[in-house]
Amino acid sequence: MIKVCKFGGTSMADGITLLRVKNILEIDPARRYVVVSAPGRRFSGDSKVTDLLYSTYKEVKEGGHVGESFTKIAERFRSIVHEANVAIDIEALLYETACAIEREESEDFTASRGEFLMGRIMAAFLGIPFIDARDVVKLDAQGRVDARTYALLKDRLHGIGRAVIAGFYGEGPEGRVKTFSRGGSDVSGAIVARATGADLYENWTDVSGFLACDPRIVASPSGIKKLSYRELRELSYMGANVLHSEAIFPVREAGIPIRIKNTFRPEDEGTCILPDKGFVPGDRPVTGIAGKKNFTVIYLEKSLMNAEIGFAYRVLEVLKRHNISFEHMPTGIDTISFVIDSEQLPDLEVVEREIVEAVHPDKINVIPAIALIAVVGHGMSRNVGISARLFSAIARTGVNVRMIDQGSSELNIIVGVENVHYERTVRAVYDEFFGEGK
Ligand code: ASP
Repeated sequence: MIKVCKFGGTSMADGITLLRVKNILEIDPARRYVVVSAPGRRFSGDSKVTDLLYSTYKEVKEGGHVGESFTKIAERFRSIVHEANVAIDIEALLYETACAIEREESEDFTASRGEFLMGRIMAAFLGIPFIDARDVVKLDAQGRVDARTYALLKDRLHGIGRAVIAGFYGEGPEGRVKTFSRGGSDVSGAIVARATGADLYENWTDVSGFLACDPRIVASPSGIKKLSYRELRELSYMGANVLHSEAIFPVREAGIPIRIKNTFRPEDEGTCILPDKGFVPGDRPVTGIAGKKNFTVIYLEKSLMNAEIGFAYRVLEVLKRHNISFEHMPTGIDTISFVIDSEQLPDLEVVEREIVEAVHPDKINVIPAIALIAVVGHGMSRNVGISARLFSAIARTGVNVRMIDQGSSELNIIVGVENVHYERTVRAVYDEFFGEGK
């Protein structure tokens, strides 16, 4: 039995949490491979080491040397080593790291040093080998995992019963360190799980799994005990940010389940994420609700659009020219809408003009400041009347639905409302499917 355990920033935040982590690992000998994040916040208002590293990079770029931010980082690591009583020459390690940061002059390299240092410390603390992700995780120019990675990791881990692997980075095509996007140690954990053919990928964090809804909107929402990979993908893409939205890809291909666990409440069951094949949904039709604000909807109407060859193609050409990706594209017979993250539309007027020139619509409407709410659950397709319940609940709160998109998988229904109505709508939907007595 092999379990790969990834520990997030709060689990690495100080020496006391390191002791917790050690206990968690010792309780279960199957927990053999450990992937670590850089130390995160210890309390609200505290800094994450990775954020301090991004500031360090700016300081080096401006002044040629590491500065105040690196001094803070060094203090953090010194106190971790001291509190957990780790036998490591931390001064030498910090000195080497500062020199390497100044020499490499790379943002990704600098940002990766939090995981690198934490990995070295954790390996010394547990008395097991450290593996530098640079040697084994190979990434292409877009930051996608190169297929060589799995063979390299497998080779490197062959015969090593246990190891600590630094999360968040690998090596890019030019032999330079490349990081994933923020929170990317989750992806590293999934890569290690796949390479080792793990039975389980445990992702240890500071919450007891996924919640059915954002706790900042609904007080103490229900926990989600199990999710399918596809449900997870929908929810995490739409803002449920317990796990990096790309972390499922490596494990999904190998059918390895993921369990989200809480380092600070290890007895809690957490959330189990299971392969789609053979997934048996729970009793509720809806598994979870997630959402995001700030989308723009470009709505087009034209008689006989359905018969006009290449209509959507021409609109998409305009979007491509401006390097814009769209999120959803709900269609009617003579209508089509493009839902786009508003941040991608700094030149909205130009884009609008070019779309008009490309397809001559009868009508074009741009609806700004739209929030999308995804109602996700495998159970929805098997139950009659779910949409009726959803839309009646929204109607009862007096919110006008501006857009509806039901994915062809019937796994999710996406509802667009004005930003200002976002929280109210989420609460109404939650009450309908998870409220008391439901
Ligand atoms: N330390 C990185 C971040 O703060 C990566 C991670 O923790 O997963 O984004």
